[in-house]
Amino acid sequence: MSLTNHQILLASRPQGEATVDNFKLVATPVPSAEQLADGAVLVRHHFLSLDPYMRGRMNESKSYAQPQPLDSVMLGGTVGEVVASKHARFAVGDKVLGMGGWQEYSIVDANERGALHKVDTTHIPLAAYLGAVGMPGVTGWYGLVKIINPKAGETVVVSAASGAVGGVVGQLAKARGCRVVGVAGGADKCRYVVDELGFDACIDYKARPDMRSFYAALKEATPNGIDGYFENVGGMILDAVLLRMNAFGRIALCGMIAGYNGEPTPMQNPALILINRLKVEGFIVSEHPEVWPDATKELGTMVATGQLKFRESVAQGIASAPEAFLGLLKGKNFGKQLVQLI
Ligand code: NDP
Repeated sequence: MSLTNHQILLASRPQGEATVDNFKLVATPVPSAEQLADGAVLVRHHFLSLDPYMRGRMNESKSYAQPQPLDSVMLGGTVGEVVASKHARFAVGDKVLGMGGWQEYSIVDANERGALHKVDTTHIPLAAYLGAVGMPGVTGWYGLVKIINPKAGETVVVSAASGAVGGVVGQLAKARGCRVVGVAGGADKCRYVVDELGFDACIDYKARPDMRSFYAALKEATPNGIDGYFENVGGMILDAVLLRMNAFGRIALCGMIAGYNGEPTPMQNPALILINRLKVEGFIVSEHPEVWPDATKELGTMVATGQLKFRESVAQGIASAPEAFLGLLKGKNFGKQLVQLI
C-alpha cells in the first residue's frame, strides 16, 4: 500500500503579521524503498520543531539566511526514524535528527555532510534533540558561555526566560554560580521559571507594561546591577536592562522577537553602551558548528541526569503546524514548541 506525505508549503509572503493563509497543506505520495537512489534515506518524522527564525525566512528581504522559496516545503528541524535506507551508515529503525521540514516524511541524501545525524535515545528523549540538546540549547550555551562568559557571583538576566533557549541559558548560568533573573510573559511562566527552573527571580513584563514599573521590578531583582544579558526580545526590555548594566557588562544579542512582524524596536539610549563600556555581540548559532561537541556534551549530561529541566508545547498533526507557529510568535507556547507527527 502506498503511503501519503502531508506537507506544509509557504503559499505567500506575509504583509506584516503572518497568518494561516500564508501556508498551504498538500499531499504527495511517499516513494517506495526500491525507488530510493543510492545513498538516500527515507525518514518518518516523529516531531517537527517550530522556531522563531522561520518567520524571518518567510520574508523576501535580505537577512543572514536566504528567504524560503514560495511553494516549497517550510524548512525546519525534525527528529524521526529511518524507514528505508540505501546508505550503509543508516539502518531501518535508527533514530535521526535532520532538517526534514514541515512534512511527515523526508528523503535525505545521507552522503551530504551533516544532513542526517543518528541520535541516542537511551537517556535523552528523542524530542529533546530539537530543544535543550539541540539547536535552541546550543544557542543558549553559545551566547552564555562564549559571549557573556559569566563568573560566579555575577548577575545574568535573560528574556523569553521560559522558552526553549531562555530556560537553558538561566539553568546554565545557575550552574556557574550566578544570580539569574528571567523576564517572561505572565504569572504562570514566571512561577515556572523560578519554581521549576530554579531562577532567583522572574519579572512578568505583561504585568508591568510601562518602562517605569518594569524598571522598578528589574532594579529590585538585580540589587548589584546586571553583568550579563541574554537578549531574545528587544524593545522596552532591552532599554530597561541597559539602564541596569554594570561597567564592562556583556550582552549576547540572540533574538529580537518583538520586531519579527516588522514592528520597529528602537533603542532609547545607545549611549549607555559607551558609558558602561559594554560588549554587545550578535550571533547566529549555525555559524558556530565548532561548539556543538562541547555544548551538547554539557547539555546532554545535564538533561540525562535531570539537572537541566525543560518544558514542551506539543501540537498534534502536521495540519496544526501553522497555528502553532503563529502562536509561538505571540507567546502562546510554554516551552519548546513542537509538532508531533506520529
Ligand atoms: P521561545 O520558546 O522562547 O518562544 C518565543 C517566546 O518569545 C514566546 O514564548 C514569548 O515568551 C516571547 N515573545 C514573543 N513575542 C514577544 C514580544 N512581542 N515581546 C516579548 N516576548 C515575546 O523561542 P526560542 O527559545 O526558540 O527562541 C528565543 C529567541 O532566540 C528568539 O528571539 C529566537 O529568534 C532566538 N534564536 C536565535 C538564534 C540565533 O542563532 N541567534 C537561534 C535560535 C533562537 P513570553 O510569553 O515570555 O513573552
